[in-house]
Amino acid sequence: MTRHERPTVLVVEDEPAQREVLAYNLEAEGFRVARAENGEEALLLVEEDAPDVIVLDWMLPNVSGIEVCRRLKTRPDTQGVPIIMLSARSEEVDRVRGLETGADDYVVKPYSLVELMARIRAQLRRTRPAAVGQRLTFEDIVLDAETHRVFRSDKPLKLGPTEFRLLSTFMEKPGRVWSREQLLDRVWGRDIYVDTRTVDVHIGRLRKALCQNGGPDPVRTVRGAGYALG
Ligand code: CA
Repeated sequence: MTRHERPTVLVVEDEPAQREVLAYNLEAEGFRVARAENGEEALLLVEEDAPDVIVLDWMLPNVSGIEVCRRLKTRPDTQGVPIIMLSARSEEVDRVRGLETGADDYVVKPYSLVELMARIRAQLRRTRPAAVGQRLTFEDIVLDAETHRVFRSDKPLKLGPTEFRLLSTFMEKPGRVWSREQLLDRVWGRDIYVDTRTVDVHIGRLRKALCQNGGPDPVRTVRGAGYALG
């Protein structure tokens, strides 16, 4: 995973040692990590910037993990974020399931890190397929995130690294309209100052690259909103 394609995992755990061990291991695996020590903080963080996956402890002070899960899963803007619930006992997992909180997966503590990483990747295959090396297809375009190669109508295309990241962002969610600011965050990273006009320049290069062997321009300009694929 290159730096800006790294998916963000939000770790919600009140136990500092457990939170840090998990965060450390996630960072070592190449993920970006956000930390919250209670439910309120988690809800605020998600509102600010939705992560790609949430690892959520059941036992939290005040607002429980179940309540956080229920709230996020009822909000249209956050219900698509996968949630993996952690709980201390398997009976609790049974209860979480029974409560229909909408959690996407459940892991019992003490968990194996290898197992938890596998579960996280399984969720990302659905929501951030390019970031975990999947092959994406849109009409006659194929993007292989593992080998960093792009084909159109079976012919290989030459793309710069920025254009590749732009295309993989688009291909993860065809049809979604991305604002210039959202593309800057995803493709360049939020910690870097780049003018929004830079986005337009690279969109122009991406269009040229995608059409280098002919075919219609698949990138759509949405006036006043941004860009979309298809
Ligand atoms: Ca806890």
